Amino acid sequence: MDCIFCKIASGEIPTTVVYEDDKVIAFNDTDPQAPVHVLIIPKEHIASMAEINESNSAVVAHIFEVAALIAREKGLDNGFRVVSNCGESAGQSVHHLHFHLMGGRDFGWPAG
Ligand code: 5GP
Ligand code: ZN
Repeated sequence: MDCIFCKIASGEIPTTVVYEDDKVIAFNDTDPQAPVHVLIIPKEHIASMAEINESNSAVVAHIFEVAALIAREKGLDNGFRVVSNCGESAGQSVHHLHFHLMGGRDFGWPAG
């Protein structure tokens, strides 16, 4: 399977690693939309949030633990945003589950 995030997870494509363990890896987005813009992904290939079920949801909880850890480490004490775009209408462009952790500026809602 030709998946860019699987290649990042395996180390085949080098990236700026922010956090890594046996289940997940977090790295800087190459097109940052905020002063802090980190992508957190499971190492296992899951296409999107639409594929989450009771057999694979534990990694999502773990990703949220890692998001909070990175937010603390990056000093995002004023707040931050965690987003997962799922499917075409949400603008998902990479079809390997990922969570955007963004901070360091103010955000609008629901966009921006
Ligand atoms: P999506 O649009 O699917 O929600 O988010 C995909 C994100 O992956 C985008 O913010 C895009 O900038 C980022 N991205 C795409 N290709 C690469 C890559 O090769 N390396 C890194 N670090 N980020 C990437
Ligand atoms: Zn993948």
